[in-house]
Amino acid sequence: AKEQGGNGYRFFTREIDQQMQARLAVEARLRGAVERNEFVLHYQPIVDLPTGRIGRVEALIRWRQPDGALATPDDFVPIAEETGLITGIGNWVIETACAQMREHLLGDTPLARVAVNVSPRQLQVPGFAGFVEQALRRNDLPARCLELEITESVLLDDTAEITANLDRLCALGVRLSIDDFGTGYSSLAYLQRYPFDILKIDRTFVASSHNDNSVRLIETLIAMAHGLGMEVIAEGVETEAQYALLRERDCDHAQGYFFSRPIALDEVSALLRSEMPL
Ligand code: C2E
Ligand code: CA
Ligand code: CA
Ligand code: CA
Repeated sequence: AKEQGGNGYRFFTREIDQQMQARLAVEARLRGAVERNEFVLHYQPIVDLPTGRIGRVEALIRWRQPDGALATPDDFVPIAEETGLITGIGNWVIETACAQMREHLLGDTPLARVAVNVSPRQLQVPGFAGFVEQALRRNDLPARCLELEITESVLLDDTAEITANLDRLCALGVRLSIDDFGTGYSSLAYLQRYPFDILKIDRTFVASSHNDNSVRLIETLIAMAHGLGMEVIAEGVETEAQYALLRERDCDHAQGYFFSRPIALDEVSALLRSEMPL
């Protein structure tokens, strides 16, 4: 734009301005979205590799906007995190996942657990673990039915509040998993310092598993996790070949479009019921 008449700078600021306006508009609409009940949870099945059955699901948030469009997290979770709105939204996710697990997914199905994503901001709130405990109690769910997925970026902050929350959640019996393992700011030191039960191998490793080096990397991650007493979930399984490879290499669970995309509550509920032996 600079070449076109020397007003490149103004053009640039105008573009930034438009981005700002767009963000502010999303923020304004996000503010009322919890009260207006615009969020929904979709659930993606997680398959037990030895049995091939769905033992768990991961709750993934969606935003049903007034015009009917269904927004995925990439469109609004970063803004919710920056503005701090994620703490309220995150509490809604935990409460709703527990309630739907109790009312619709447990009972006559083989489902044992629901996994929920937790963002760094939530773990910094001193009463977070207490809130989780209350949500479990309100919905009469044992702590082992809930898994909290945490990304490594959380641990970068490494504050006393985060450590206290993680320790208390662990003491309650809530399962903790480290999400997107192997990407971003991963450090093996976190595995030593925090009480993780489950390691989720990021889908980029699974996606490149036609390559020998990636296969060895996956094998090594699985061996390391097992050596530390952790279970392994492979993410982003899209093909039969990937599924077969992970089974062969002793991976515990798998999740991905090969099995199912994230689906609505009634669909996952029907799927689980159809899995029950007659
Ligand atoms: P994530 O936790 O890594 O979740 C997995 C994402 O990968 C989901 O995207 C899912 O739809 C997608 N996925 C699953 N299987 C496959 C596959 O086989 N291939 C490919 N290419 N993708 C697959 P989604 O639902 O758009 O969520 C994106 C991210 O948003 C999540 O990544 C998570 O970090 C965040 N997120 C979702 N729900 C929540 C929430 O309730 N709270 C917070 N704080 N973050 C959330
Ligand atoms: Ca996740
Ligand atoms: Ca992930
Ligand atoms: Ca991710």
